[in-house]
Amino acid sequence: MGGNELPRFAGITTFMRLPGSTPPAELDVAIVGVPLDIGTSNRPGARFGPRGIREESVLARPYNMATRAAPFDSLRIDDTGDVATNPYNLADSVARIEAHFAELLAHDVVTVALGGDHTIVLPILRAMRAKHGPVGVVHVDAHTDINDEMFGEKIAHGTPFRRAVEEGLLDTSRVVQIGVRGTGYAADDFDWSRQQGFRVVSIEECWHRSLVPLMNEVQEQVGGGPVYLSFDIDGLDPAYAPGTGTPEIAGLTTPQAVEIIRGCAGLNLVGCDLVEVAPIYDVSGMTAHIAADLVYEMLCALPGVEKRD
Ligand code: MN
Ligand code: MN
Repeated sequence: MGGNELPRFAGITTFMRLPGSTPPAELDVAIVGVPLDIGTSNRPGARFGPRGIREESVLARPYNMATRAAPFDSLRIDDTGDVATNPYNLADSVARIEAHFAELLAHDVVTVALGGDHTIVLPILRAMRAKHGPVGVVHVDAHTDINDEMFGEKIAHGTPFRRAVEEGLLDTSRVVQIGVRGTGYAADDFDWSRQQGFRVVSIEECWHRSLVPLMNEVQEQVGGGPVYLSFDIDGLDPAYAPGTGTPEIAGLTTPQAVEIIRGCAGLNLVGCDLVEVAPIYDVSGMTAHIAADLVYEMLCALPGVEKRD
């Protein structure tokens, strides 16, 4: 129902007030919440990310006035609800997430995940690998998330891309990490990514400039196969997105975040996520609000979305 028939603050809080009742077999795109934060290393709270993003998504309207994309005219999109994660067991949660995504992917949908901490990308990538083979990745984040372990644990929100490489989930020459910065555990923290063949774009390469030229290069690098877009909200500067568990200063601006996602249009995107939104640290709901609009921009960048003149 449109924003002029039912007030925006009314109705059940699905993403963008979508019906939330369409069977996956009748969908092209499944939006799915993954409420989980027991993989976090610092401030928890991303378990409330899906709810926060949905709540702030009520203001988004169907047509993209800049790119002219009309995702809801082009694709069958619905909010399919949440994965039943286990708040007491990370390993079990990871297994549940993989099974949930495998079931959705059996219906040939593109999945758009609302996190949840970044641990969720590992089981999602496992399901993607089973469906599509090794995928390229556009990974936006303040952190590379390639630790070997955290407190001796192999599964945590700072390890998923190391595990993904080890498990053969990625086409490693088609992986780019954008926005990495901050302090390291060791001086060579970012080298492991480069040794795998990833392109690592530090935040200093992004400061004070449009990222349109960068995204043209990214298209060249990661195109030619299935691509997964994983967007950690802490890639943005905490001035814009304070509601997250591990903020780092001097990050991406909101317009740069939009440029990155719009710059993914034309790629064979098979899935996306927006992770690490922790609304309890937000001052005005703005982090979840930005996340909701970035998820909308992801919908606009998906294959098969037509433009309206
Ligand atoms: Mn991350
Ligand atoms: Mn991060």
